Formats: sequence, structure tokens, C-alpha cells
Amino acid sequence: MATTAVDQLRETVRGPIIGPNDDTYEQTRRVYNAMIDRRPALIVQCANAGDVMAAVRFARESGMDLAVRGGQHSVPGFGTVDDGLVIDLSPMRSVRVDPVERTARAEGGANWGDFNAATHAFGLATTGGIISTTGIAGLTLGGGIGHLARSCGLSCDNLVSADVVTADGRFLTASEREHDDLFWALRGGGGNFGVVTSFEYRLQPVDTIYGGPMFYELRDAGTMLRFYRDFIREAPEQLGAFPAFQIAPPLPFIPESRHGDTLFMVVACWSGPLDEGERMLRPFHDVAPVVAELVGPMPYPVLNAAFDALLPPGLQHYWKANFVRELTDAAIEAHLVHGPRLPVVNSTVHIYPIDGACHRVAPDATAFAYRDANFATVIAGMWPDPADNEANIRWVREYYDATAPHSEEGGYVNFMADDDQGRVRANYRGNYDRLVEVKRRYDPDNLFHLNQNIKP
Ligand SMILES: Cc1cc2nc3c(=O)[nH]c(=O)nc-3n(C[C@H](O)[C@H](O)[C@H](O)COP(=O)(O)OP(=O)(O)OC[C@H]3O[C@@H](n4cnc5c(N)ncnc54)[C@H](O)[C@@H]3O)c2cc1C
Repeated sequence: MATTAVDQLRETVRGPIIGPNDDTYEQTRRVYNAMIDRRPALIVQCANAGDVMAAVRFARESGMDLAVRGGQHSVPGFGTVDDGLVIDLSPMRSVRVDPVERTARAEGGANWGDFNAATHAFGLATTGGIISTTGIAGLTLGGGIGHLARSCGLSCDNLVSADVVTADGRFLTASEREHDDLFWALRGGGGNFGVVTSFEYRLQPVDTIYGGPMFYELRDAGTMLRFYRDFIREAPEQLGAFPAFQIAPPLPFIPESRHGDTLFMVVACWSGPLDEGERMLRPFHDVAPVVAELVGPMPYPVLNAAFDALLPPGLQHYWKANFVRELTDAAIEAHLVHGPRLPVVNSTVHIYPIDGACHRVAPDATAFAYRDANFATVIAGMWPDPADNEANIRWVREYYDATAPHSEEGGYVNFMADDDQGRVRANYRGNYDRLVEVKRRYDPDNLFHLNQNIKP
């Protein structure tokens, strides 16, 4: 690569270009999962869509491997690459809310903390992730599961349009009206089709919610899981609630004597009328005694950031995932064997409900195909010490192996590991061939291949 070509790129773009000789390189090359230790040749910190267009053209013409980074939360580390070029969108985080139309336009480097803070000021929200530091880009492009999914649908179901830089360096707007094939593929198809420089979302009135975490004794986990399975099916859609296994963190609302104990947990988010919140969550108190809880009215962004401290950047991550139609007694038995074996406080298993509004979208209406799944399970291994990698990865794999026979073939792309590339076709079911067609139209040479890849 001639230095002059890089110099020309430097003169073209507004944002900084960082390479191995720069002081900020070590810091900038890092991604959220500390297990990923890659050394890109160039990191283009894009200031605007024009920078993205220039960087995409440069990568294509130079033949460099290209990674695209939004919120950098990809567990397999798809947002970076050895010796290649990283398009880093982190400087592009603005969010503009239109309170009259109830929409928000957010740049591709924003995270859910940026997004929720901006929309909450207007008493509005849409489905986003449950941790505020996750990027809106990767999460929305893979589907988007969160507290509001039962009432608002997936994040991608609330997408109105997206500005995209495609592999040939063109800038397109994709929506139901323009490039509708691309718009279809972006809603679940991941980062396969181009760099999204901004997302336009439909918003719903969600302001103060009633909810929070409730902890139970492990011996009640089976009772709670069976209760939860039946209860959530009939519960109003404004109730988001997911069960989890969780080691009690040292938080003031948990008795000190219980810190470090492995417990069962339900995290609830009632986004209906506030004065109905207590009644809605009462059944969760009637089935088994609650050991500790932090439940009450809170601004939606507060719940969205409630677990951030448990998950700082710099942990080791290895995750596996499944879609589940029925949480059968046999599946629950598998959870009861492996959930209590949680190795460290950061690791967890969440079983997210994805019924309600998610089911009202036809399986072929967007790329996200599993519209009949009732739950998305994530077995999230997260731990601080690389010396523990083997033990933690083994825990995730054994848990996954035990629950896989009770789950669907596919898993949610955003929760899958990089050794799951073989499951990509299964994830998209009948939509896969159409995704390949769109990929051939917009990225025939697979420039955007660092993702759960749909090969052209
Ligand atoms: C702590 C944690 C909590 C999570 N919680 C949830 C949750 O509640 N719900 C949920 O659904 N998922 C959740 N996830 C999974 C999350 O959706 C994925 O990790 C997602 O890919 C992260 O997106 P990102 O932009 O932060 O990541 P990045 O690493 O920046 O990117 C992820 C993928 O998206 C591509 N990409 C990023 N930005 C763009 C863009 N602007 N245009 C095109 N492609 C792009 C990248 O190339 C890469 O393939 C969580 C992940 C973590 C680590």
C-alpha cells in the first residue's frame, strides 16, 4: 500500500486516521471483548457519511480487509481486523428526535445510552438492548431484543429508514419506498449489506416504567421457570420480563450475607400505566419468596443502564444462543443443571421473551425469520481473567449442548459465537436464499464479510 494513497485518504476525510505509530493506537484498536486482540493497519474514525464513503472506496480499491465498528460489542470481534482497515463510527453518535412524528434519527456510532437519553426527554422510546453501552447499529441490524420487545417488536421492526454506504461507495436511503430489497435485508441480516450511517426509528410513548430485578433462591428456580413460561404467554404485552441465573453482585439492595451466592433472577419492565405496575408484578412475589429486589417506578433509561457496572469493557466473552418455541419441562431441567454452575458474577443466562408484537410481523416480511419463537436464550460467558478462559468456555459449551435438543436449529445472530458461522443459514430459514440475492446485488465481492456472513 503506497503511503501516498493513505495520505490522500487523510486529506479526504474529516475524522482522524489512526495507525500503529500513533499514540492513541493501543487504546483505539481495543474492542469490548478483551479476548479479541487484533492489530488493524488503519482505523478511520469517521466524522460523517462522506468519510464512510471515502473509507469504503479506499478499502475496496486497496484490497484491504474491511471491518465496520459501531458500538464495538460484537462478541466474536467482528468490529476489528488484523492488518486491515476499520471504519470506526464512534464519533458519529448524534440522535435527533422528532416529537411530532414520534421518530428519531440516530447516527451509526450511537449506543443505546445515547439513544435513550435523547428520546426519554420526550417521553418516547423503542426497543433497544438491555445494556446502555451496546451499539444501536449492530443490535438493530441483527434484529434487536430488549425489555420493550413484546410491546414494540424488535428494534429492526421499528426501523423506518436507513442511510447506507454500499460496497461500491454509493450513499443510499433504504426504506419501504426506496431500495426496499436492501431495507428488507437490513432488518435482521446484520452488517452484510453496507455501512449504515444513520437509522430512523419509530418511537412509542414509554417514559417511567415499573420494574427492576427480583432475586430468588436457587431451589425455587424450577418453580419460577415453570410459572414464568405459563404466565408470560398470557401477560399483557407491555410486560417485558426475562428469567436469568445470576450470582448476586455486591449491591446495597442485596443482603451482604448473600453477595456471591448463585441465585435465580427475573428482570421485569412494565411499560403500561404506572399505577398498574405493582399489581402486574404481584404474581412474581406470590409464587416464591423474593430474596432481594430493586423494583419500582424508574425512568426507562435507568433500567437500561442498571447492569452496566457488571459488564465493563475489558472482560473476556464467549456466548452461545438459541431460539426456543416451547420452554418444555425437559428444557427447564437442562437449565436447572447448568444455570447453577455459573462460574463468575459477570456471566449469566437470559431467556428473553420474543412473542407479542414480534410475532405480528410475518417471517418473510423482514430478514429476521424466527417469528414463531417465543424465547431467545443467551448463554453469556463473561469473566475478567484470561487464565479462566478454558473453564468458562467449557461451561458455555456444555450448557449449550444440554439445551440445544430442546431448542430450534437457529440462534439469534447477535448472540452467536464466531464458531457458529455454520448456523447462519439455519438462523435465516426460508429467507436465506433471498438474502443471498440481495447480497449479490449490493456486495457481490463480499467486502462486508466480518459478520455472521451471508456469502454472495
Ligand atoms: C454486554 C452486551 C449486552 C448485549 N445486550 C443485547 C440485548 O439486550 N439485545 C440484543 O439484541 N443484543 C444484545 N447484545 C448483542 C448485540 O446486539 C451484538 O453484540 C451487536 O452486534 C452489537 O452491536 P455493536 O454496534 O455494539 O457492535 P460492533 O462490534 O460495532 O458491530 C457488530 C456487527 O455489526 C456490524 N456493524 C456495526 N456497526 C455497523 C454499521 N453502522 N453499519 C453496518 N454494520 C455495522 C459490524 O461490522 C459487526 O459485524 C449485547 C452484547 C453485549 C456485549
